[in-house]
This record gives sequence, C-alpha cells and structure tokens, in this order.
Amino acid sequence: MPIRVLSEEVASKIAAGEVVERPASVVKELVENSIDAGAREIKVEVRRGGRRLMRVIDDGTGIPADEVELAFARHATSKIASVEELSSIATLGFRGEALASIAAVSQLTIVTRAAEEDGGTPRVGTLLRLEGGKVTHRQKKGCPQGTVITVENLFYNVPARLKFLRAETTERKHIDGLVYSYGMAYPHLRFSLLNDGRLTFQSLGSGELYDVLIEVYGLEVAQQMIEVRASETDDLGLVDVHGYISPPPLHRANRSYLTFFVNGRWVKDRMLSYAVSEAYHTLLPTRRHPIVVLRLELNPSQVDINVHPTKSEVRFLDSNMVFAAVQKAVRRTLVDQAPIPRMTGRPSQQPFGWAQDRPALDMERWRRLVEVGTQARAVGIETPSALEFPESAKLPPLRVLGQVAQTYIIAEGPEGLYLIDQHAAHERVLYERLLAERAKMAITSQSLLEPLTIELPREASGESGGTPRLEFLSQLGFDIEPFGGETYLVRAVPTMLATGDIGQAIAEIVDGLTEGDAAEAGEEGALISLVCHSAVRAGKTLSQSEMRDLIRQLEGTAMPRTCPHGRPTMIHLSAEQLAREFGRR
Ligand code: ADP
Ligand code: MG
Repeated sequence: MPIRVLSEEVASKIAAGEVVERPASVVKELVENSIDAGAREIKVEVRRGGRRLMRVIDDGTGIPADEVELAFARHATSKIASVEELSSIATLGFRGEALASIAAVSQLTIVTRAAEEDGGTPRVGTLLRLEGGKVTHRQKKGCPQGTVITVENLFYNVPARLKFLRAETTERKHIDGLVYSYGMAYPHLRFSLLNDGRLTFQSLGSGELYDVLIEVYGLEVAQQMIEVRASETDDLGLVDVHGYISPPPLHRANRSYLTFFVNGRWVKDRMLSYAVSEAYHTLLPTRRHPIVVLRLELNPSQVDINVHPTKSEVRFLDSNMVFAAVQKAVRRTLVDQAPIPRMTGRPSQQPFGWAQDRPALDMERWRRLVEVGTQARAVGIETPSALEFPESAKLPPLRVLGQVAQTYIIAEGPEGLYLIDQHAAHERVLYERLLAERAKMAITSQSLLEPLTIELPREASGESGGTPRLEFLSQLGFDIEPFGGETYLVRAVPTMLATGDIGQAIAEIVDGLTEGDAAEAGEEGALISLVCHSAVRAGKTLSQSEMRDLIRQLEGTAMPRTCPHGRPTMIHLSAEQLAREFGRR
C-alpha cells in the first residue's frame, strides 16, 4: 500500500484510543474537567458499568455559548497557552484532547451554561449533541449554571474496542474506584455516584479527608487509620506528605488499596507503592498490603505530568528524594503511632468499635456518616473484629506475672493486662539484633562440637552459575563446606541458632534464597528464617528471669509490636475492659 495521510476520522479514533481506554477513563476526564471548572458539587451517573451511559453533572463555570463547539476540537483548551506554562500547571487538564476523544467514540450530549455575561441571555445555555465526533444537533436550552455531559454507547463505532470491554461489574468497579479516589483527593467537594439509579457513594464536602475515608472504607476501618503528616525538605524544595495509613494488623490481599495524589492529581506510580511497601517492611504478613491514602504536595516544577495521555503517570525530577520522603513519613508514623492491638470482649456491643478518644461528632452528622459509610463500603472488612486500636504508642513498662500454655507471657502494664507471644517477641528481638550485627559485619558464630552433615540442592554452592549462596551463608555466620555430591558439612552456625534446629533452618534459608523473586527479597526471607529457627519456641517453659529478659529486650526494639513476619507480638486487655467484663461498670 502506498503511504498516505490517514483520514481525519481514522486519525481521531486512533488518538481517542490513547485517552479513552475504558468507561472509567471517560469518567476520569469528565470529573477532572468539572474540578478544573471550579465545581463544588459533582454528580456521576452510570448505567450498566458505563457501557450504556455515563453522565457527569457539575456546578462549575460552564462553557460560553460561542465556545462549546471549540471545546470538542482537538487540542482546544482554555488551560494553557504556551509550552512554558506546562511546568507550572495548576489544573488537571491541559492537553485539550479529552472531549474530542470521548466525542469521537460515543454519542455525546452536553448541556452547559456559563455565568451570565454582559449581553448574554440569562438562564439560557447550550445543548449540543455529537455522534462519532460530528455535531448532529444544537439548540438553546434553559439550565442552571454548570455543565452536564452525557456519554452514551461508548465505542459504538469502534467494534474492536467494544470487544475488549470487561464485564459490567468490572468496568463499574473501575469507575467506583475512580470516584472514591477523587472524593479522597478533593474532600471539600461534594461527590455522588449513582449506579443504575442507586446512590452508592456520596461525600459530604466537609473538607476533611477523614470523613471521605469513612464513606469509602466504612467507619470501622477509617477509625483505625493513622494520620500521616510530614514535611521533608532538601535542596530541591519541600515534599509534604499527608494522609492516612492502616496500622499493621489491618491489611488487604492486593495493592489496590494504595491511593496516591501528587499535587491533587490521582496517580498510579510503582515507585510510590514501593516506598510504602518498604516502610511496612516486616510489619505485614507476606503478600499482604496496607490501606494507604497519601497526598503529596511538591513544587510543580519538580514533577513532569505530561508523560502519559491519561495523565495518570508522572515523572519526578528527583525520584530518590520523593521515595525517601514517602518512606520516611510512613515508617516514622508507624513506629511512633501504630498501637498495640487491644482485645475486646464483646466487639459487637460497641457499634463499629467506636473509639472513645476520637473527638465527638454531633449525632446527626455521625448517623449520616455511618449510613453513607455502610452504603459505600468498598469491600468486606478483613480486620479481626476482636481487635481495636487505642492511641497508646510506645511499649509501656511491663511487669511479668507468669506464662500461659507455655506460649504466652502474661504481663501487667499501666493500662491493664498484656499477653505476649514468646516466639513472636523473641523473633522481633533477634531480627533486629541480626540486622544490626550484619550491618557491622559482626555476626557471631559458634563451632559445632561435631560437624553436621546436610544435603543441599546443587545450586546452593553456586556451581551451576547461580549466586554463591555459601558465601551469603558464611556472612550470616555459617561455616559450611562441600562434602561431595549434594552433601555438605556444617562446622559452625550463627550463635543465635546454636540451640535451634540447624538442619531445618539451613534447608529453609536455602529454599528462601532460591525462591525469592529478587535477590534482596530472598536474602530478607533467609534472615527471617534464621531468626524464626533461632527464637524460643511456643511450648517451652520459661523462667521468670527469662521472661523478664525477653520483655526488656523487646522494649529495646524499634518495632516491638510485630514479629518480622508481621504477626502481632502482643495483645492488650485494658483495665476498663476487665471492669466491664466483671460488671463493675
Ligand atoms: P483540557 O481539559 O485538557 O483543557 P478537554 O478536552 O478536557 O481539555 O476540555 C476542553 C475545554 O473544554 C477545557 O479546556 C474547558 O475550557 C472546557 N470544559 C470541558 N469540560 C468543562 C466543564 N465541565 N466545565 C467548564 N468547562 C469545561
Ligand atoms: Mg480535560
């Protein structure tokens, strides 16, 4: 075929494909336009997961009658005029592509009215209808100030795209997630979402992110979330990190509960997710993820927002700095604030586990929050319902009372009774000690009276081109040498392991090293295995002084409340709870 310039129609459909990937992308662009137009209230209506219809209604500035057609022209925008302005954009949109793209692949109706201008006809706006990007109808129409855009039958003229749409419920979930996210990014705006005629989400526009969290995740989850508020400065400027993060005992099976906003823009960013995972390192069970809503504010010149047609990815000028800022902010908050899980006798008696120490809301507002929160709860709540989180931060001074089931240490503190899992607590102590010793290259090792014979898979020695695992093991304090075939002789082990199950520990460490997807993850797992096999077992009777020692060592750790696998080391039964259980109160 000879080379030729594509027809306007084909070109516009191709371009539309970049912006409009699925129904949620339409909602995203329309909502962003409403926000840019200064709306205070944004209503989103969706039918059949957006495949049939999506409508966004706002009370923003509206579009003057003589500019409505222009808004649908490609690269038509009122938001920037020059390339220089790209580096200091304060609006969400700037590419001038969205309306043109959406109109090209749907049947679209806009009803809009700008604030009354001099000489303009009061209360009369414009209705414009487009099909496949072509205007088919225009009329004057009485309407309130603002804009209503209705997008019907998305991809009706692009069968190839239509085929790729997922089930209605999937598309609907994407739209839900999007509206929740914008609700959280803009707590001072009132959002509502109607799915097939049913109100499924509504934010109050109170300006408090916390209120929106309640609506998105439900009161029970919101109440446990910990506030993050941090500013990091360096030569390039300031990064403000604020939002909410879940305490370690509250977690989810996937990463979709990580929400980030950069200068008010909802972004998907692997670096940011990674910074958060790092901050929660060893605090969560493997393959579990926190719930996080973080807003980053930084100098616009530090962010390139023009890297992707849907503007959902950004590039940071100094991504190391941003990474460090986020990781530090989250980690510090967790260290300072993550509370000890508290045992509650009868959780159902306390509706939503309402914490006493939150400032009281007025009842009417509270009822409303609960109602909306229940309706909008995004997903089931997985937090153990018997756990509740008081504000108490640091590990309190504890007095050992005894041991139960040869597994738990009972201790008394200023706020009641504490049960400490001896194995988990010891793991935490050993893990931090191991990290410290490793950093100083000072892991002590102990020779075995008689060398131990073990079998290891071949690659453990590094012979098959794999990484030299024996070398890593020797860094940990093992002295292991090949003894022919798959047999090895263990001559010395890390001191902490000397009384543990050596063969089992080595097998697990080696497994971990070969399994780990990243070398680092593998080594991390190896350290945790070592610690796990070195720590005192459940089922072992401990003397008073052993228990006191353990508690004292636990007090000295940076993260006393979870073991390196992310399980809690202790639970708390408060004095009030005891009093309640005994009917004293
Ligand atoms: P961009 O947002 O990148 O400018 P769009 O194609 O999304 O491009 O919108 C084109 C223009 O239409 C905007 O610059 C704005 O002037 C106008 N517009 C779109 N939606 C609205 C709205 N809801 N209210 C007021 N003006 C709007
Ligand atoms: Mg736009």
